[in-house]
Amino acid sequence: MINLILFGPPGSGKGTQAAKLAQEFNLLHISTGDLFRSELKNETPLGVEARKYMDKGELVPDEVTIGMLSNKLDEYAGKVDGFIFDGFPRTQPQAEALDKLLDLKNTGISLVLALEVPEDEIVTRIIERSKTSERADDKDPEIIRNRFRVYLKETAQVADHYKKSNKVVSLNGVGTIDEIFGALRSEVSKLKK
Ligand code: AMP
Repeated sequence: MINLILFGPPGSGKGTQAAKLAQEFNLLHISTGDLFRSELKNETPLGVEARKYMDKGELVPDEVTIGMLSNKLDEYAGKVDGFIFDGFPRTQPQAEALDKLLDLKNTGISLVLALEVPEDEIVTRIIERSKTSERADDKDPEIIRNRFRVYLKETAQVADHYKKSNKVVSLNGVGTIDEIFGALRSEVSKLKK
């Protein structure tokens, strides 16, 4: 199996690139943000709970997020060549839980691809995205800046967890979609050699 984590701040292009990588390498793209938005749209109890945090740009509590992710893995294990995680893990406990869940399925993380994009570029990109994304958390610059703060405070350190096992490759996330995809694809292709 190839199991990838696409890592980086909100608006760094994780969703766009994860979808392209999933198609190229036949992986299942799991975005916890998309899963929460789908729950929210269907007004499920999980969605109602998640909204309280999402609207403020805060993280949904770990137990809720890990439970949802675990269900998704169980649903697809054995049916796909691997997973690409987008927006997960975002905390140290989530990273540890993911390691355990994959270990139970006799697999693990192959590579963490970290996209580097400066904060001002992030805010510009997300405001632009808000014109079409219909995401409440994309519209207000203060909420966007809070998401970036939460990333620095709670998520950035998750990369250190995987650096211990030399699994992290950092790439410049500023450029055209195709340029960045080319760089990511070449890193993933090395896993197959
Ligand atoms: P995203 O689409 O990845 O930018 O996520 C949108 C929002 O969903 C985040 O600001 C969080 O409120 C919530 N969320 C998504 N993934 C996670 C996660 N792994 N842990 C906690 N909250 C998450």
